[in-house]
Amino acid sequence: MEAIDWKNLPFGYIKTDYNLRSTFKNGKWSSFEVSNSEYIDIHIAATGLHYGQEAFEGLKAYMGKDGRIRLFRWNENAKRLIHSAKGIIMEPVSEAMFKEAVLKVISLNKRFVPPYGSGASLYIRPLLYGSGAEVGVKPSSEYTFIIFVTPVGPYFKGGVVPVNMLISRDVDRAAPQGTGTFKVGGNYAASLRALLAAKHGGYASTIFLDAKEKKYIDECGPANFFGIKNNTYVTPKSESILQSITNLSLVQLAEHLGMKTERRPVPVTELPEFEEVGACGTAAVISPIAKIFDPADNKVYEYCKDCIPGEKTMMLYRKLVAIQCGDEPDPFGWITIVE
Ligand SMILES: *Cc1c(COP(=O)(O)O)cnc(C)c1O
Repeated sequence: MEAIDWKNLPFGYIKTDYNLRSTFKNGKWSSFEVSNSEYIDIHIAATGLHYGQEAFEGLKAYMGKDGRIRLFRWNENAKRLIHSAKGIIMEPVSEAMFKEAVLKVISLNKRFVPPYGSGASLYIRPLLYGSGAEVGVKPSSEYTFIIFVTPVGPYFKGGVVPVNMLISRDVDRAAPQGTGTFKVGGNYAASLRALLAAKHGGYASTIFLDAKEKKYIDECGPANFFGIKNNTYVTPKSESILQSITNLSLVQLAEHLGMKTERRPVPVTELPEFEEVGACGTAAVISPIAKIFDPADNKVYEYCKDCIPGEKTMMLYRKLVAIQCGDEPDPFGWITIVE
């Protein structure tokens, strides 16, 4: 058993001891199989492979100063997986089954929960896919639910650093009445061309606009967008974005901390008015944005002076992280202690 170098943990995959699997067959889910293999045996005609019947989730558990493991808002992830499953006609996993799986997989891999103060956490990845064989296009009659964990290092080593973003003008992630609100792999496949173009240009990620009019901000690759002006937290409302649980939490926190909040369409033309902007999601919590480049009119929008993240952004960031790792009380009932 090799010791893990917690301080230098990458944001990537590391093998742990166990994962859980369950199969939906003949109208019911099997009890969980505890596996120590990193591989699955999958039918060559599984709908998950051919027709994109696949959805996933991502959530984190943190070790507190008190030595207790804290899981953040698992029930929101459970609800979202049900929403995604229904959206692409898969058999959903009930909230109760999701809870059982998350708690069990963490308990079985306790030694991989990074220590308090390391900045690292245990990332939990539930995955649901059509595993039955079909050649014609139709939903599978068999589904597989897998949950695995991997310890991940902090997204920003050595502190939060603002990033640069490129507005995607020639690639759309999701259509207005498409699959944008579901956490499905297909949306990620659709976003890769834009993401790679952004990386090649030296940007951290891409900002997608609404696919119909290209006037409004949708989201930032795998994270939601927010802007702050006049003590107001503004985040896009759109029929093609994935509802981020981090964003949901930041809205509640902003109100708790005396800010106003607005969820409404955010036109690109509003970008110059914001005092601070950022991207939010489970991986980084918040990535403050330093600069946004819009290739349509070669415009650059700048938000950070000397690379320093905005004051309100950092206030929200610190508060959320403090609740997640138990440094501050949780007045919202977001945390579940894992025994
Ligand atoms: C997962 C995801 C997010 C972030 O959601 P969180 O619940 O905050 O992790 C944002 N956008 C997309 C497209 C996602 O898939």
